Amino acid sequence: MKTTLEEPLQTRSRRKLKWEAAKGHGVVPTHFGKAKHLDAKAPSAKAFPGGKDLVIETFKNAGDAPATTTVSDGGGKKLRNATINLIFWGDAWTANPAPSPSLSEVVNDAASILAGPYQTRISQYGATPARLGGIFVSVPGNNPPTNYQTSDVQNLITNAIGGGALPEPDEETNDVVHVVFMPPGTNAPPNVGGLHTYANWSEVSLIPFDIDILDRSHMAWVAFGSRAFISSVFSHELVEALSDPEGDGIQVNPTNGSNWNEIGDACQSTGLVNGVTVQSYWSQSDRACVIPVNLKLEMQITFIHKDPRNDAFHPIQAVGGMNLTQNIPFRMSQKECIASIDRGNKFFVIGADGSRAEVKVFIHFPPWNRQGIRYIATVADNSKADNLLSLPEG
Ligand SMILES: [Zn+2]
Repeated sequence: MKTTLEEPLQTRSRRKLKWEAAKGHGVVPTHFGKAKHLDAKAPSAKAFPGGKDLVIETFKNAGDAPATTTVSDGGGKKLRNATINLIFWGDAWTANPAPSPSLSEVVNDAASILAGPYQTRISQYGATPARLGGIFVSVPGNNPPTNYQTSDVQNLITNAIGGGALPEPDEETNDVVHVVFMPPGTNAPPNVGGLHTYANWSEVSLIPFDIDILDRSHMAWVAFGSRAFISSVFSHELVEALSDPEGDGIQVNPTNGSNWNEIGDACQSTGLVNGVTVQSYWSQSDRACVIPVNLKLEMQITFIHKDPRNDAFHPIQAVGGMNLTQNIPFRMSQKECIASIDRGNKFFVIGADGSRAEVKVFIHFPPWNRQGIRYIATVADNSKADNLLSLPEG
């Protein structure tokens, strides 16, 4: 599809947009097992020689499938090298004061899940871990119905594709899952906390000439709730959408053609990965419900690279310093630093007065677009000497 945003609306009027829901879907109920509060092992742990830092936590609590559980591969699609778009629907996400959890907290939790070890065990199913795509906020005044249905979320995505804010399925260079976070004050269908499915995109356009028949677009929605609820449901839908995006991939036996019985549905236990609550999922190779976690690194930033230095419009290009866990120096781009923080590693700065300030990821939305920009900064405290911009150039 070759349309550009500059194309006059009239030439688009010959299109016929059609969005058909899939015959089935994977749902997650609104209840969760008790949080187990596991976390990554302390950096001082000696259990991981040779730099191995992946640990597979297994669960056998009530609601977690027994070791005799098996899966079926229907031979259908799995997602590889997919990107996950995070879409925030409704004015409530950008309201002042911000909701709890805030948009920023939800973004950071989702980014952490995507950047960390959580998805590791889906590789056995022919899928590969997905990475963070774009972050989108609906335009002001665009709000979901208070009692929404999946079709409402599908319409949001259809309109965003039709309006050019999101690419058409056949224009995507890799598989994409659009995950829509529903705002506070809205209600999901009874007993459903989230859902993933796909939809068929059909379009006939004469100018420019383009015919798309039943291209598939993958989507999920997550109901509003506590911060732990939202990240848990997101993690559940994520691993299921990757391993069974269209209901004919990996399912847990007995399979179900309409209410897909998937790897997240076989498990109930939740845990913490890098401080973010996730739900365990079935790993056939481990014969258990699993949550992969890894070592945390302590990273002291001692210099930054920023040119020009005193211009707020140019971001920090790079940071560097010492990896105290493995005792090796590091230098990385700001983007790499963000991904490392997302994976649960700790970055900090020591100021001239000896005070320590944690480096965190923040997000801002410039007025010229609705897609957020993530950046690093020190957490505000009483010291003025320890922020990133006070460090020497390197
Ligand atoms: Zn599910």
